[in-house]
Amino acid sequence: MTKRKLPICVRPNCTRAVARNTTDTYQGLCFQHAKAAGYAHNYIPWEQAHPHLDRLLNGGWTINEIAFHSGVSNSTLAGIQKHRRERFKYASIQALKHLPDNSPTRRPAWPLRRRINALRAIGIQLATISTDTGLSAGQVFNIASGRLKWTAISTDTLIRDYYQQHCMDAQLPLDVKPQKMRLTRPLDWDDIDDPNEVHYGAPPVLKPQRRNMVTAQTRHRLKTVVEHYGTIREAAKVLHMSNTDIVAILNGSKQKIMQRVVGRITYRYKHLPVLPNQKEAA
Ligand SMILES: [Zn+2]
Repeated sequence: MTKRKLPICVRPNCTRAVARNTTDTYQGLCFQHAKAAGYAHNYIPWEQAHPHLDRLLNGGWTINEIAFHSGVSNSTLAGIQKHRRERFKYASIQALKHLPDNSPTRRPAWPLRRRINALRAIGIQLATISTDTGLSAGQVFNIASGRLKWTAISTDTLIRDYYQQHCMDAQLPLDVKPQKMRLTRPLDWDDIDDPNEVHYGAPPVLKPQRRNMVTAQTRHRLKTVVEHYGTIREAAKVLHMSNTDIVAILNGSKQKIMQRVVGRITYRYKHLPVLPNQKEAA
């Protein structure tokens, strides 16, 4: 008699072989006991399957890379990605779980975009970053502007190292463009790699709105719109104006209004809808 090669189920008195697939041994249990213990579901629903694929896709993995490294077929992966089926083999999902977050060939570009822009915020220019890192000006620009979703691992390393060296540099005077962009400086980031950390920057300074004198024509048009809608209240709604402003313009106590308000009055005057009672009359 040859000695049994497969290990036996760890449960006492169970002589069945340990269940295994390419990536899992189900805690040393046979398939029946593993199933009873909840380790070896034959299938798991899409809702539980797709987060595992999403994790990898967010880490830059391509479907082909995932297929190659996990042994899961392209069609199963497409089934998860596009929700073509409701249930997927437990073993397939286990295989996805065993892959690391990051793709073996590329990295997401957004952490690099943040880094380049943080350096710009302290006065380091894109051209300088390009020269110092040896990356082309176009590539640095494409990352900084968010045109690239993924970069090579070598690019990722270059920019992360460069950022590490320069993020504490003294503030240099800023050109007009980076000044206007209100980029977030290195010190303002709590965790530059946290996708949930968001900086909106200070609101841009708005140009003062142009105010125009209320002309007789504008007043006439406003009056027509009000008469058409029946009440000041209804007219105020469609014009996005306050009742008070409409009254003040009509009675002449308001002499100047914003250009854009004139625009709205003109638009409404020229696009008066046919009201139900007018339809009946016609
Ligand atoms: Zn067993």
